[in-house]
Amino acid sequence: MVVATSKWPPQLTESQLDSLSLLATTYALAHGLLYLPPGSQSSSTIPTSAIHAPITLFPTPIPRRLFEQAQKVQSIYNNLYARVALDDAFLDKVMGAVEGVGRVDDFVGRLWAGWKKHPMVQSLHLGLFRSDYLLHEDQSGASTFKQVEFNTISSSFGPLSSQTAKMHRYLLASTGYYGSDPVLNTSNMPVNNTLSGLVEGLVFSHRAYGNESARILFVVQDGERNIFDQRWLEYELLEKHSIRVLRKTLTILGKAATLERDNALYVYSDSDEQPFEISTVYYRAGYTPDDYPTESHYETRFLLNSSRAIQCPSIPLQLAGGKKVQEVLSRPGVLEDFLLNELRGPERFNFQDVEQLRASWMDMWSLDLNGDQGVDDARSQHQNLVLKPQREGGGNNIYKESIPTFLDGLKESEREAWIAMKLIQPPQNIYNWLIRAGGGTTGRVKTDIVSEVGIFGYALFGKDRPIVEEEAGWLVRTKGRESDEGGVAVGFSVLDSIILV
Ligand code: ADP
Ligand code: MG
Ligand code: MG
Repeated sequence: MVVATSKWPPQLTESQLDSLSLLATTYALAHGLLYLPPGSQSSSTIPTSAIHAPITLFPTPIPRRLFEQAQKVQSIYNNLYARVALDDAFLDKVMGAVEGVGRVDDFVGRLWAGWKKHPMVQSLHLGLFRSDYLLHEDQSGASTFKQVEFNTISSSFGPLSSQTAKMHRYLLASTGYYGSDPVLNTSNMPVNNTLSGLVEGLVFSHRAYGNESARILFVVQDGERNIFDQRWLEYELLEKHSIRVLRKTLTILGKAATLERDNALYVYSDSDEQPFEISTVYYRAGYTPDDYPTESHYETRFLLNSSRAIQCPSIPLQLAGGKKVQEVLSRPGVLEDFLLNELRGPERFNFQDVEQLRASWMDMWSLDLNGDQGVDDARSQHQNLVLKPQREGGGNNIYKESIPTFLDGLKESEREAWIAMKLIQPPQNIYNWLIRAGGGTTGRVKTDIVSEVGIFGYALFGKDRPIVEEEAGWLVRTKGRESDEGGVAVGFSVLDSIILV
């Protein structure tokens, strides 16, 4: 299907664009579509100001059939990654520090070794996932969704995406000219319930733990600027479900977290004498080595991971989200084993399910494939490739013409930690207005865009019990075509929503 969007976004006058920009940014400021300003360094200082999150002025056209299909397969992905996380032998082999990537990637190796040394006592795991896709146009001009990656830790921007979709609906409702193109119609603007979807996952976990008065622990980064995206989850937990949250950094938890009888996790709050029992540990930190500046930060993570509190994610579930796992799943027979082997769980899948997932994957291989073959192939195909290490959070990949020089400097022993992935080729000539805070009218630029759609899902699971899982909403991050990377937090992308075409 070709997206007929050469006239996107609708043509408006400069003064209409000015009015819309004012409506959009003031809506964002009034509705918690916010970021802390740059330079908000420490979580110990009390903020007095915020800026609106970077946003598009219009939703971006996405083929309805592809969007609905991506929503539908999320349930298969929820099951798949639960099954990967429950397969210790597979994770040892692929990510471990004796046989796998953990031998050459210090961060992966430490997490794996800590998990082995301090075994888990909680059999349940919670995943709040996000499967990311880009539109891919093949030679015939047909578009499909191709998967960029599958996130199992700190999948962010759910709540802010809900607000962005509402903001675009508000622009449509409040002006006559915004909807001058008939496609801009609420029936083509999918509702975004990601906030309540993600919270539903956390609530299932809290209830499964079995102590209503326990709290949910948010593990956060010091100086986090994306705090409002996290606060929305806290407010919803409190207001709709009467569940209280504690927010702590790993540094603070080094002192504030203790294990009590039966490995129950207790955390001291600043203002209370008594520590609180924790039902669920939700990580919005811990996915990068920067979050572990000292040995004791790792020890703290292992203490939490070995407690009775349900981990979102547990270390095995975090490891399951590695790019290396994504590549290994694409090898012949591996996906079939996870989905079709009846010993893996009571949920049943068929070949069609396998085919649907596989059809959304680009070619991938490990750089240590068959001696030098992995590197040789990457060198000869570099114009059409991205190389990825086992890292999250953006800014870690090597693209196209940077690849040969990078490979020149890559030690043979380090090849195993990298995968090569064919570049997805998004359709061209789709434009949108991107608005970033602080730029006045120069903060508004019209640019040729690439939009990455993320489908959220949650899964609460353990060995030998039925999984509780659901598709849980969506997000669109839009960047200028000239940037290889995505990522709102790292400044490349802006938040967007969907117009179904
Ligand atoms: P991270 O975990 O750091 O977010 P990603 O795999 O999502 O890593 O890569 C970061 C960004 O790089 C993506 O948001 C996307 O913009 C771009 N990217 C990644 N893989 C591809 C690909 N195969 N084709 C085109 N762009 C890609
Ligand atoms: Mg990503
Ligand atoms: Mg990621």
